[in-house]
Amino acid sequence: MRKRWPGRSGDAPAVVWLQPAGVELQAVTGQDRAEQRAYLEGVLAEGMVIDTSGLAQPTADDGHPQGARLCAQCGGRCCEHGGGWRAFIDLTLLQRWRDQHPGRTLVDATAAYVAMLPARHVHGSCLYQSAQGCAIPRELRADICNGFACQALQAVQRLAAADAGAAVVAITFHQDRVERAALIDATATRELELPL
Ligand code: SF4
Ligand code: SF4
Repeated sequence: MRKRWPGRSGDAPAVVWLQPAGVELQAVTGQDRAEQRAYLEGVLAEGMVIDTSGLAQPTADDGHPQGARLCAQCGGRCCEHGGGWRAFIDLTLLQRWRDQHPGRTLVDATAAYVAMLPARHVHGSCLYQSAQGCAIPRELRADICNGFACQALQAVQRLAAADAGAAVVAITFHQDRVERAALIDATATRELELPL
C-alpha cells in the first residue's frame, strides 16, 4: 500500500513522534535566583554573545496553528536545553531589553530577567519553564527559543504549509511505550484513546 506524503485532506493523517517533556515541578530557590543573577552579571562583564552562526536558520513558523498545538501537546521537551544554557540569555538579548525600555540600563535588564523567574519550574529543565509554559514573554525570549523547531515540528509545518487543513497524529513515545497520542489539526487537539 502506498502512503501519500505529505498528507492531504482526506488522507490518513501523518504520524509524528514526540519524546515526553518533564511535568514534575520544583521550586526556583533563592540559590537558583542567585546563580542566574551571577550568570547574567557574567554575561555583562564578559560581553558574552552566543554564536549562533553554526546553527540552521530559525525554522519555527507561527503561520499555522498545528505547530503551536504540537508544541502544547509536547509540553516543551526542547526546553531541557535551556537549563544548561541558562535560557540562552546573552548580551544581545539584554541589549534588546534595554532598547525596548528607554532610560533603563543593562544592569536593569539583568534584574528584569531575574525577576521573570517563576516560583516553580519543570524539574530538570530550564528555570523559566513553568507549568504555564515559558515565563519569559515571547518578545523577550532568545532567538534560539523562538526559532527552534524539532524534526516533528518541522514535519508538521511542512504539512500545514502544503495543506492548511492538514491533520497529524502526534504520538508521545518513551521506553518502548506509547504514553499519549492526539489527533491535531488546525482547529483542535483531540486526545486519542490507548492502545491505538
Ligand atoms: S519544538 Fe519540538 S520539542 Fe520543542 S516544544 Fe515543539 S514539539 Fe516539543
Ligand atoms: S527561556 Fe523559555 S522557551 Fe527558552 S528554553 Fe527556557 S523555558 Fe524554553
